[in-house]
Amino acid sequence: MVNWQYSESIESREILDIKSKYTNYIGGKFVEPNSKKYIDTISPSTEEVLSQIAISNQNDVNKAVKAAKSGFEIWSSLAPYERSKYLFKLARLIQERSREFAVLESLDGGKPIKESRDFDIPQVAANFFYFAGWADKIDLSWSTKGLKPHGVVGQIIPWNFPLLMLAWKVAPALATGNTVVLKPAETTSLTALLFAEICDQAGLPNGVVNIITGDGTTGSLIVNHQDINKIAFTGSTQVGKLIQKSLAGREVGLTLELGGKAANIVYEDAAIDQAVEGVVNGIFFNQGHVCCAGSRLLIQESVHDQFISKLEKRMQALRVGNPLDKNTDIGAINSKEQLNKITNLVDEGVADGGNIFQTECELPGNGFWFKPTLFTDVQPSYSIAREEIFGPVLTTLTFRTPDEAVEIANNTEYGLSAGVWTEKGSKILWTADRLEAGVVWANTFNKFDPASPFGGYKESGFGREGGRHGLLSYLKESS
Ligand code: NDP
Repeated sequence: MVNWQYSESIESREILDIKSKYTNYIGGKFVEPNSKKYIDTISPSTEEVLSQIAISNQNDVNKAVKAAKSGFEIWSSLAPYERSKYLFKLARLIQERSREFAVLESLDGGKPIKESRDFDIPQVAANFFYFAGWADKIDLSWSTKGLKPHGVVGQIIPWNFPLLMLAWKVAPALATGNTVVLKPAETTSLTALLFAEICDQAGLPNGVVNIITGDGTTGSLIVNHQDINKIAFTGSTQVGKLIQKSLAGREVGLTLELGGKAANIVYEDAAIDQAVEGVVNGIFFNQGHVCCAGSRLLIQESVHDQFISKLEKRMQALRVGNPLDKNTDIGAINSKEQLNKITNLVDEGVADGGNIFQTECELPGNGFWFKPTLFTDVQPSYSIAREEIFGPVLTTLTFRTPDEAVEIANNTEYGLSAGVWTEKGSKILWTADRLEAGVVWANTFNKFDPASPFGGYKESGFGREGGRHGLLSYLKESS
């Protein structure tokens, strides 16, 4: 028998020109933060310091909002087809520099290069192309005709899909005539700052896109700024609630895309091997740092043992390691804080009585890592079945009837996504009709398209991103 040896295939970093320090991007220029403060940004896979990013204070936020206000005068009065041309240009430049973006995203955030190269960056470009196509049709479509932009939009994005979340927010905001002040997450700001360079390259009018870096305090300064007309936030339910409270009583538009604890339901008549693949993709994609991850596996009792044995075998084949290795399936956990959160919840799951399976793999010595993990023998009351772990950890529950599956699936404070695996089309429709989730995937999982609206129910937030619904979030009635 041939003994296969594994050879790594590392994507080169040479394409990158990472500066030692990054300032804010305000009014079309890179400017020193008023605070004069910077923090290190590291690669979570090695803990290597990659660069420093600015910590922005009230003066920096004031400056960015002022720039966005004057940018709005120019941008909103441009002919719609001119806005469209700029967006197409941004889309094309993203495609041209896609390798640079992909390598930087993997280095700064820890995700496998095959995901940043084949999923994140192509989706980023696709979003700009999609909304570029809308920009000159807003006044023609019956659903958006006569509506007007909010004005200056504050956008606060998380660390799990840094550039993609930027695209989900910036592209529809610009297409509808708004200007933006965007704050990326403090652990993953570098691709947003590279995007700022692209705005320059595209000759975007000054002040249309403003990117300021910082921590949660900077985010709350944006939320509370009196000249902000709309806030678009993606992140934790906890911060989403704080933002909603801060905006109460003010005439500020708000969309919140928050956490999730999605059920991935496998019926006994499902194609088991395909379902195993879908379940693996549903939870281990992007280290499980996915708000719509299929983190609760619901298996019909009759196929439980068969399914778990195939799943464990498949999990064992997942390659954990260097995000820049093209063979890597699971990269680094985004930060030490997130690793601690995952570790604590998993420890709690074991203490509660869950049966844990972790793959046998060697983890790198430096950086933040967590083995692909599966829990069986879980009760719905355990924290691992209720809380968003946001890591490579799958929790299994069982059911006997479709009614019971739906009851367990909906027994959560979240309502962002769900999956259904069965060979019966009628069962898919019956189940999807009853699931309280913004997106239901059938015999697949984690599929995205810029034309398809995405968003949640219950504590997963409100408002939609993507498609025509996503445009509506950036428009309001003319007064
Ligand atoms: P947060 O909600 O804290 O962060 C999301 C964004 O909001 C970041 O840019 C953050 O800045 C900013 N922010 C933090 N505090 C405030 C505030 N008071 N006002 C305005 N903006 C603020 O998420 P965490 O990074 O702390 O992750 C915690 C948990 O949240 C995860 O374990 C996961 O469960 C969930 N999460 C969900 C996401 C989703 O896609 N729905 C994405 C990320 C996390 P900074 O990062 O600089 O602190």
